[in-house]
Amino acid sequence: MTTSAVERVVIIGSGPAGWTAAVYAARANLSPVVYCGVPKQTPSIVLPGGQLMLTTEVENYPGFPHGVMGPEMMGMFQKQAERFGTRVVQADIERCDFSKRPFELHTDDGNGGKGTVRAHSVIIATGAVANWLGLPNEMRLATKGGGVSACAVCDGALPAFRKQPVAVVGGGDTAMEEATYLTKFASEVIVLHRRDSLRASKIMQQRFLSRPNAKVMFNKAVVDVLGEDRISGVVIEDTVTKQRSELPVRGLFIAIGHTPATGFLNGSGVELDTSGYVDLKTRGSRTNIEGVFAAGDVADSHYRQAVTAAGMGCQAAIDAERWLATQDVH
Ligand code: NAP
Repeated sequence: MTTSAVERVVIIGSGPAGWTAAVYAARANLSPVVYCGVPKQTPSIVLPGGQLMLTTEVENYPGFPHGVMGPEMMGMFQKQAERFGTRVVQADIERCDFSKRPFELHTDDGNGGKGTVRAHSVIIATGAVANWLGLPNEMRLATKGGGVSACAVCDGALPAFRKQPVAVVGGGDTAMEEATYLTKFASEVIVLHRRDSLRASKIMQQRFLSRPNAKVMFNKAVVDVLGEDRISGVVIEDTVTKQRSELPVRGLFIAIGHTPATGFLNGSGVELDTSGYVDLKTRGSRTNIEGVFAAGDVADSHYRQAVTAAGMGCQAAIDAERWLATQDVH
């Protein structure tokens, strides 16, 4: 759908950064519209609400002394934004033209419905998606429900993994979190890490290693995934000796970090850093294009926390409001 109205602020993305930006922009009477995205599997699972939709309990967001479930928290964020008049559109922004004023954003509702929305200012808050190893058999089994996944929290409780040995690839906090979760269901959870020491924080390591069915294999890279319709094992290569061996597992969970969702900015002129994150340099939430702001994981490869994303969303809304006040727009 294409409308003739020009929005004062369009927020792209509906994680903690997007909703917080919406709360602040709505309370500043900017009547924001949030393009919350459409669910997809590419093969990474992408949901409106972002990565917290794929999380169980969030224990480190201030104000929730007993923790809160990720999807429940995102629901609360959305309700709070809507309470102050935020409008929500379930569509992706697939391309941006920031060379025109007002800006032109091209939308896709996931069902063939294309449109354009015009905006005086834009807040980019599209977050990041899970990475994959890129092995052909990994992708084949991941896309057909063959026991390969990038989200233990989404898939780990499925009957196919119960009382079965499973492997988790990665050595960071995500790998520890996913592996710990899987110990509740699997007979054994084997973390395969490419180096000789984990990157994860000590507390997350201890939480995993305290489980009786937890195991870590260091200096191991997964070089192939075995199985026709369902995974039967993986081929691992010792990164030091280069020796290969087979490890029988009935599940493989990839937890090797994330890529920022900035593909739709190709050709838009918004500067990205070498890893593809929106480059904010030292300008707060301002990008290199006047009137275009960014917040949350899409512009933050360092902290990547819900609370820091929310803080950045607040900054972006305030920056957008102040910038709009200097412009002759209504
Ligand atoms: P991360 O810290 O970047 O760790 C990614 C891990 O995957 C690293 O151990 C890396 O190995 C490995 N890896 C990367 N590419 C690989 C490849 N192609 N093949 C094999 N292994 C590969 O990512 P993350 O664990 O997703 O964490 C991201 C951020 O979120 C961190 O700041 C983390 O603290 C935070 N986080 C916090 C919590 C929590 O506190 N509850 C939970 C999850 C995440 P190397 O170590 O060799 O580089």
